[in-house]
Amino acid sequence: MQKDNLVFDLIQKELERQRNGIELIASENFTSLQVMQAMGTVATNKYAEGYPGKRYYGGCEIVDEIETLAIERLKKIFNASWANVQPHSGAQANAAVFLACVKPGEKILGLDLSMGGHLTHGSPANFSGKNHEALFYGVKKDTGLVDYEQLEEIALREKPKMIICGASAYSRDWDYKRIRAVADQIGAIVFADIAHPAGLIAKGLLNDPFDHCHIVSSTTHKTLRGPRGGIIMVRHDFENPWGIKDPKGNTRTITQLLDLAVFPGTQGGPLEHVIAAKAVAFGEILSDDFAVYGKQVIANAQAMAKAFVSKGYNLISDGTDNHLMLIDLRNKNITGKKAQETLDKAHITLNKNAVPFDDKSPFVTSGIRVGVPAVTTRGMKEADVTTVVELIDRVLMNIDNEQEIAAVKNDVHTFMQKFPLYPEL
Ligand SMILES: *Cc1c(COP(=O)(O)O)cnc(C)c1O
Repeated sequence: MQKDNLVFDLIQKELERQRNGIELIASENFTSLQVMQAMGTVATNKYAEGYPGKRYYGGCEIVDEIETLAIERLKKIFNASWANVQPHSGAQANAAVFLACVKPGEKILGLDLSMGGHLTHGSPANFSGKNHEALFYGVKKDTGLVDYEQLEEIALREKPKMIICGASAYSRDWDYKRIRAVADQIGAIVFADIAHPAGLIAKGLLNDPFDHCHIVSSTTHKTLRGPRGGIIMVRHDFENPWGIKDPKGNTRTITQLLDLAVFPGTQGGPLEHVIAAKAVAFGEILSDDFAVYGKQVIANAQAMAKAFVSKGYNLISDGTDNHLMLIDLRNKNITGKKAQETLDKAHITLNKNAVPFDDKSPFVTSGIRVGVPAVTTRGMKEADVTTVVELIDRVLMNIDNEQEIAAVKNDVHTFMQKFPLYPEL
């Protein structure tokens, strides 16, 4: 067969783009070479509907071992008693949690999308908001911190079946214990979506949700630095005190319901090549090197936040506990859209983001979200991310000066040569 140069040339161009630019999208990272190698293997050829030991197809004995390895490693990372590694993505993981736990029309309570929440936490554009009566809590205007009083007040009044915590654009840690105390008053399920900070939680660098939240989901490709995918976990084998039934009307444990909700509830055959790559990534996370990485992520985020503040940038909540920060650009008279588009020209990649109580549309926004997981993987330390802030500031302070932006782009390329990416490729 002839090599498909059209596609592989584009992939090579994408590699060069990743090598030359500064990647600050908070949800992105660079997997190890062996994670990518595991993905590009014959495991993609195998149909394996079902779970290890109980599949609907023959020839699954090897992929059973692969999937079991992924599950066991993941359980070890988070000290969980049960895990499902099959969700194709974070959104798929959440779809399964909803299908397992809440019936159509029942109430759910999550962080408002415009305050840092995620589409799958009840947005009207998403299945979660279309199938359920979605209610939202926000953050406090003065502090930018989650408004736990508002959460409690809505929860006690509306009695949602499930309370969702976790976010996509929130730079502070969560008080899971407090949310559980509210949920226990109304018998609600607490579901933590740790898609963003999971890699930091894995190494004990942020509060542990597992003792307080009944169910925890995550992506595997953000701070966990694995292949693109999703996972669901439970630490304590909750005996389904809610009496939730399976589609046949049988009462089951929560973990049985979750397994059924992933397959056959929302997915068909699992991506065993991606599960193999998840197993590789989980092995890396169990190593001490990953703790060094996690600590550097936090150190870099702190250094970057300080550098932005010293240049007069307005950070929501005045700083960060995790790997990202949200910047309100209104005092600089720049929209999030304009900032993203102009920084893109200098090969600095990040995303525009609504800030809490934003007066602009989600397509324009007043802010940007900046994250350090990817640049930390490339080897940046505190001094380097301070340089990155200087480069960003040069672009934003010369936003209509094409010449200066082109000069920054050249400086970005030169700077990034210090941080080799996939030298083997
Ligand atoms: C990224 C993210 C997801 C969705 O992950 P996908 O893999 O893009 O589907 C879900 N929840 C939160 C909080 C996220 O940040």
